[in-house]
Amino acid sequence: MKSTHDVCIVGGGVIGCAIAFFAARKGFRPLVIERNELGSQSTQAGAGMLGAQVEMEKPDALYRLGIASRDMYKDLQAELKEISGIDIELQTAGILRLAVSEDDRNQLLARQKWQTEEGQRAIWLEDEELRKEAGDLFGSTYGALYLPDDHQVRNQALLQALVASATKLGAKFVQHTEMTGIILQGDTVKGITTPHGQIAVDAVILAAGAWTGILSRHCGVELPVFPVKGQAIMAESRSPVTPFTVFTHGTYMLPKLTGHIYIGATMERCGFDKTPSLEGAARLLSRAAEIMPPLGKLGVHSHLVGLRPGSEDGYPFFGELPGIKGLYTATGHLRNGVLLAPITGAILADLLSEKVSGIDLAPFSVNRLL
Ligand SMILES: Cc1cc2nc3c(=O)[nH]c(=O)nc-3n(C[C@H](O)[C@H](O)[C@H](O)COP(=O)(O)OP(=O)(O)OC[C@H]3O[C@@H](n4cnc5c(N)ncnc54)[C@H](O)[C@@H]3O)c2cc1C
Repeated sequence: MKSTHDVCIVGGGVIGCAIAFFAARKGFRPLVIERNELGSQSTQAGAGMLGAQVEMEKPDALYRLGIASRDMYKDLQAELKEISGIDIELQTAGILRLAVSEDDRNQLLARQKWQTEEGQRAIWLEDEELRKEAGDLFGSTYGALYLPDDHQVRNQALLQALVASATKLGAKFVQHTEMTGIILQGDTVKGITTPHGQIAVDAVILAAGAWTGILSRHCGVELPVFPVKGQAIMAESRSPVTPFTVFTHGTYMLPKLTGHIYIGATMERCGFDKTPSLEGAARLLSRAAEIMPPLGKLGVHSHLVGLRPGSEDGYPFFGELPGIKGLYTATGHLRNGVLLAPITGAILADLLSEKVSGIDLAPFSVNRLL
């Protein structure tokens, strides 16, 4: 079957959908193939935190990529709203990273120093100032680092807006269709196979999250991407507890505009197992109630589980797979796929149009861990 589309994106999570939008905006006609439903895997479980400053540990290439992507969100929100009418629910109150020990405090003060030197806003609040700014909501703290420019969105709204906007610009999304193989002619991609037949295209992008490594094996490449299970609890809240996202070691709480509070997230390496566990829920809930005691009184709305696409060095992969012309990947975003979705879309759209990206892609090359 000769497709009327010029690029096939495999995987309809936030990464595949962002690439579809940015590629369509550049004049491509992307076709997105999704095995289940759009956004039904890691993307549906994610918190939607745009935590460039709160998540990254040092001023490296990943940190700068995160800042660049986060800073695309305000324009992206306006553009998606204009094209699709859908609001991605960008919340800009900022993130409070609490210090819960003396050691923590020292590390956060060091983080404040390097982030300020990097030109970012990072404001130290002593415990008393924290309570004055955010309310007397916390267990004992050693102060907090306030990051006013780290924001959040609602993943489902972002996904819907990307899909609706990309569709208006000429992209097509096909659900319940699995890529089962890649068609090659010599060293060049000619299309993919699905249970419903073949799709002929000149460029294929593997953006299948934690499953991308399995797909790359179809053409003999062992892309080292592995699943990292994350569990989270959505709590019911009738009135907003705080407008701020609150983050500590391994646990964070996000107030959502829907009235829910998202409490995340575990990090578990246990293969493709997606079972929600009582142990995971118990750990999250007891930690959340310790950090913010008023949360202990809230009801549980739902228990979310997703498999993040991990890489050994924590960096994503962008680019062509070695030795195969026209076969690209964008994956390995681990905890930051939503944060990095806009920049990933822009990078892949540049690669497709053979435009040199303004970003040094060497640290994210597919070859680095092969
Ligand atoms: C609990 C939790 C909290 C998180 N919090 C945040 C956060 O606050 N901020 C942030 O930036 N990130 C967060 N993340 C990470 C983020 O959700 C992921 O990095 C992101 O969703 C990855 O997107 P993706 O499109 O690569 O993968 P996915 O969303 O998993 O999408 C991949 C898609 O590929 C499809 N697929 C697989 N195989 C095939 C095939 N053969 N053919 C067709 N389709 C196929 C799958 O069905 C799936 O829909 C969190 C993740 C979890 C689990």
